[in-house]
Amino acid sequence: GRVFLTGGTGFVASHVLDCLLDHGFDVVVSVRSQEKGNRMLESIASKKKPDQQVSFVVVPNIAEEGAFDEVLKQYNNLDYVIHTASPYQLSFADPVKECLDPAIKGTTGVLKSIHAYAPTVKRVVITSSSAAILNPPNHRKVYDESSWSEVTWEQAMEPEHTYRASKKFAEKSAWDFLSTVSPKFDLATINNTYTFGPLPRSLPPTSLAEGINTSNKRILDLVSGNMRSGIQPTAPVFTFVDVRDVALAHVRAMTRPEAGGKRFYMVGGFFSNPKIAGIIAKNYPELKEKLPNEGKCKDDVPEDHWGFDNKRSKEVLGIRYRDLEESVVDTVDSILEMMGRL
Ligand code: NDP
Repeated sequence: GRVFLTGGTGFVASHVLDCLLDHGFDVVVSVRSQEKGNRMLESIASKKKPDQQVSFVVVPNIAEEGAFDEVLKQYNNLDYVIHTASPYQLSFADPVKECLDPAIKGTTGVLKSIHAYAPTVKRVVITSSSAAILNPPNHRKVYDESSWSEVTWEQAMEPEHTYRASKKFAEKSAWDFLSTVSPKFDLATINNTYTFGPLPRSLPPTSLAEGINTSNKRILDLVSGNMRSGIQPTAPVFTFVDVRDVALAHVRAMTRPEAGGKRFYMVGGFFSNPKIAGIIAKNYPELKEKLPNEGKCKDDVPEDHWGFDNKRSKEVLGIRYRDLEESVVDTVDSILEMMGRL
């Protein structure tokens, strides 16, 4: 089978790519520059089997009208598309241009181009987010796939809501496209919560603080001593999932017939910054001096916190979730390895 994967040098996408290669797929990857594409190819050189085809196309800005037209005309034998590309940062100078447009128009754009030029595509899997499910401050007791964020477009203009709104509106526009256009392909979304895990091997040779993806940043901060004098509050997220479980879910949601038309809420468990600090202290005695001392590390997960129901991802996709310790240890190993290389 042949897959088109967008945003291929991102944190989640690099693991999706590994997983696709493990499952024997040929992959066309979109990246934002030639240089990033070359780094991506280098990073998978030893993983790729000799008969597997991996190539890249440069799509600098997914918000542009028709951004995906050329690639979908050029590769006319695709079976599946996985759309992961979307801005994920903590702040945006221009919420519409830098975040909402690429998230929403990027999503509708890829669906329009597939519909117009890629009739062989059977299913599209989109990386949505738990942000499209959770509804702060009116939290449910237990969240599952039936829940939608009620964040508004007006709220999206406020920096603290921009990203989560971009994910809600992007996912919603995808389901709307399916119901109004009735294309040949069907759709599944992966609604992963805050995601930890090993850094992409294709990470640019810049400082880790600049290059690391948003959700792994707090682990880097702990390892680098940035929280030694005071641990940052964990809020507003308290649930995590490992990126390798998220990647496997994308590949299974792509191929399992019963996954079509479904969202998958992916949560591995609860976490907090103090819990992560404790795991690092236990597994890396040499890093103890970088960490806040234990007395200052009171767990801050609120007792009445919302619950999660991840049954569908286990039953339909067969996911067996990694626990927090495994996820954190493998992330720290990867951070230390990268630090050694820089
Ligand atoms: P990354 O920042 O590592 O990946 C984002 C990817 O999207 C990068 O490849 C980036 O390219 C690309 N991208 C962003 N904006 C544009 C644009 N305008 N045009 C073209 N490409 C663009 O973060 P993640 O891997 O974490 O995010 C991947 C997906 O997973 C996103 O959809 C995110 O919302 C979702 N997600 C992530 C979670 C997490 O905790 N990490 C949780 C839930 C969902 P480049 O790096 O070259 O700029």
